[in-house]
Amino acid sequence: MFEHLEKYAGDPIFGLNEAFHRDVHPQKVNLTIGLYYDNAGCIPVLSSVRTAEQRRAQEPEPRTYLPMEGLAPYREAVQKLVFGAQHQALQAGRVATIQSVGGTGALKVGADFLHLAYPDSQIWISDPAWDNHHSIFQGAGVPTHSYAYYDPATKSLRFDQMLAELRELPPKSFVLLHPCCHNPTGVDLSPEQWLQLIPVLAEQELIPFLDMAYQGFGAGLDEDAFAVRAMADAGLVFLVANSFSKNLSLYGERCGGLSVVCATRDEADGVLGQLKAVVRRIYSSPPAHGGHITSAVLNDPQLYAAWVQEVAGMRERIAFVRKQTHEQLSAKLPSYDSSYFVKQTGMFTYTGLSSRQLLALRERHGVYIIDSGRISVPGLNTRNIAYFTDAMADVLSA
Ligand code: PMP
Repeated sequence: MFEHLEKYAGDPIFGLNEAFHRDVHPQKVNLTIGLYYDNAGCIPVLSSVRTAEQRRAQEPEPRTYLPMEGLAPYREAVQKLVFGAQHQALQAGRVATIQSVGGTGALKVGADFLHLAYPDSQIWISDPAWDNHHSIFQGAGVPTHSYAYYDPATKSLRFDQMLAELRELPPKSFVLLHPCCHNPTGVDLSPEQWLQLIPVLAEQELIPFLDMAYQGFGAGLDEDAFAVRAMADAGLVFLVANSFSKNLSLYGERCGGLSVVCATRDEADGVLGQLKAVVRRIYSSPPAHGGHITSAVLNDPQLYAAWVQEVAGMRERIAFVRKQTHEQLSAKLPSYDSSYFVKQTGMFTYTGLSSRQLLALRERHGVYIIDSGRISVPGLNTRNIAYFTDAMADVLSA
């Protein structure tokens, strides 16, 4: 009955991650999947999360369904974190927010909602992209296209070309943007560039969809939300997906948020109803455990303060590893410009290594990097940086 279906090729990142685990190389290094590892190579359980979980375990409650839109205190905490507690868009009641099934769930609900609102619109996504952006929107019936973003020659942003291309889009087109820590390149717009982009989005009547999966991993929790807040300040109508997978290290608990910034409170009320309708027909209600834990951390002043410190610790470790890698590579291979390690931010760095170099890294050194040359930086730590930079120097000088 189903033989006619194409075989699913699997996700190449997950596939390579599995190959890494099968490899018996004694010094193997895994830089494939976008997970934050601590300096010991472990995925942390944050102390703020542990405390919230202990409290919940001591006072067990019936495991009922959450409302379709999620827990009210969770949704309020998402709004404060994403927009800043005092933002006038929140005070005016113009933002409709739901608790989502991770960042991916927020993108899916947002994609279905946008398709419902504007069935003829299409979406433009950065080149290169997090591949799932294309899949999610195509799955929602929204045709996808690319806009110029990253220049491999300079390892930096093609900002003028990006602006020029966005200026040509039909009104009501959707534009997927990363407010911080762009996946896969680690190259972001500066605050000045966001301020140049916003009038173009407004003049063209484009509908931005901001995907913020790494808030706090770039310059800081507030700094990383600059684009979101600047767009809300400018009165744009737009969507924001946020994820707690990385910054709360809660990957499998599937915690995120989707916010739609509207023109009026009335519009936001109507939008919230439509978001609930979309949720109802996909998964009905979001996960309760992660919802309660996230809400407890974000709403308890002490746990929140502890969490802010923990996010700072993760961010600072990434910055440290980037700096060390750059310094060691500069010393080992002075002719190679590795400054991109410190210019790019967040979890990812785009190395520009060729397929031949990536294969050599894997086969000769047990260093696993995905085919695009994207490195997930937190796979590096004080025990493997020297080994990694030796391996890089070897394949780059061959
Ligand atoms: N957007 C981007 C850009 C991502 O990198 C990721 C995580 N890999 C997501 C969304 C999805 O987040 P989550 O894992 O919370 O579904």
